[in-house]
Amino acid sequence: MAIKTIEKVLAPPPPHMVGDGFRVHSFLPGDGRLGKQRMSPFFLLDYGSKVEFPPTDTPRGVGVHPHRGFETVTIAYKGRIAHHDSAGHHGVIGEGDVQWMTAASGLLHKEYHEESFSRSGGLFQMVQIWVNLPAKHKMDPPAYQEITHQLMGKHLLPDQNGVVEIIAGNFRGTRGPARTFTPIEMYNLKLRAGATLELDLPAHYNTAFLMIQGAAELNGTSISPDHFVLFQHDGESVSVVASTDVVILVLSGEPLDEPIAAYGPFLMNHWSEIEQAIQDFNTGKFGLLDD
Ligand code: MN
Repeated sequence: MAIKTIEKVLAPPPPHMVGDGFRVHSFLPGDGRLGKQRMSPFFLLDYGSKVEFPPTDTPRGVGVHPHRGFETVTIAYKGRIAHHDSAGHHGVIGEGDVQWMTAASGLLHKEYHEESFSRSGGLFQMVQIWVNLPAKHKMDPPAYQEITHQLMGKHLLPDQNGVVEIIAGNFRGTRGPARTFTPIEMYNLKLRAGATLELDLPAHYNTAFLMIQGAAELNGTSISPDHFVLFQHDGESVSVVASTDVVILVLSGEPLDEPIAAYGPFLMNHWSEIEQAIQDFNTGKFGLLDD
């Protein structure tokens, strides 16, 4: 199989705060370098690189806000995150866990550091991805999937060289638990230093890797920690050689090929739908949630 050529390697852009709890580097949609469609169906990628939060009695986070038209996928690598939404879902995810929230027709939610983590303080590292929904599912009812580390598909490498954790999709016959609306592959590669792995991902999928921990060679190119690697559509295969112990987030998905109208927390196809979302929010149609 032909190899996927690396199109771009992006260093983490300067971080900004989302609320007072999430210090993130926005790789997507970014400052015009990649654009809104380039990684469809993945629209937004906020990466919270490792940061130490001091202890506090008042959990840091982001207060009540709406979403419509997409899914928020939150992956905790360090620390613990709590979530409440107006559809009645509540959850806490810890190291290695994923929260997959389908906002679809709309809800209100709030996202905070979990209480005991807040009190003790400590190292925090996370990713939030916005997965766009196809037009025909944007107004579906909201849903919530808590994908604990235990529930993930696991493909073990020989000789204890590591594991591929499958959040969504299918790696060599092992399936991930996430229910998705369009074809998506989402894995954590956790490899020991020196380990090698070959991945085959469809050429026409939009594909990127994020270096969560450590360094590796991807198709012969050395990639530093916290960097984002975008692949072209010219091949299927990616070879990984772990230079150190590594954790790599793999994102690959079939493009939606639909127009995007994006405004703040709303992600629709047309501006009339954004105007409708704002009107629905202002008239209380997203439900109720206490601060
Ligand atoms: Mn949110």
